[in-house]
Amino acid sequence: MSDFRFLKIENLIIELEDYTFKQLHIHHTWKPTHRNFTGDNYIAMQQAMKNYHTISLGWSDIGQHLTLFPDGIWLTGRPFDIIPASIKGWNIGALAVEMIGNFDIPETNIYNELGYDKLEGRQKEEILKLMRYFIDKYGESSIIFHRDNPDAGKTCPGSSLNKSIMIKEAKELDYNKLHWGEDYYNNLKRKGIILDEKRYDDYLTRAEGMALVDKVTNWVIENFISK
Ligand SMILES: [Zn+2]
Repeated sequence: MSDFRFLKIENLIIELEDYTFKQLHIHHTWKPTHRNFTGDNYIAMQQAMKNYHTISLGWSDIGQHLTLFPDGIWLTGRPFDIIPASIKGWNIGALAVEMIGNFDIPETNIYNELGYDKLEGRQKEEILKLMRYFIDKYGESSIIFHRDNPDAGKTCPGSSLNKSIMIKEAKELDYNKLHWGEDYYNNLKRKGIILDEKRYDDYLTRAEGMALVDKVTNWVIENFISK
């Protein structure tokens, strides 16, 4: 049994109203990466992180308050009223978020055999929404990237993430503008049956239609028939 809870951003924000924070701490996990996420192993991944933090590092609980998965799903970790193990010296008053992924620019920094990821799609939208909540309530200075701490010695949450651009994106975020096709795109991409980049409102060509049927057929055979 775990105490981890799935939360939608709307409900998360309602819960956060019961607390006063000074900072939003944003991390990437570096390991695990998107490659470790199968589409439904949220609890297993969270439990593995908790085990690492409690058993290997000797902490009292999982370090972060929240984990943000590649598909934009939020899962709670440490209770919100308990100080996180987030950024040494800056933990009091912080809400700590770990985004699953390695967002370093590929082939830079320390080699990660689990690969490099892009912060995009629902995962990006969700962190921007939480950033927006903090910006509106506590100001831009409340947004803290792990690497902002001079003692961090890390690129966390990844060298591909530009904080000032993300703050700008968060401030410009229009919740109603998100395309209804985004979830389908991300689900198909994760299953390896996506055809092309996002062209939500384009027609499917005959070739794309055939390719899609072929990919789906192969995926069904691999996952259901050959086992
Ligand atoms: Zn970090």
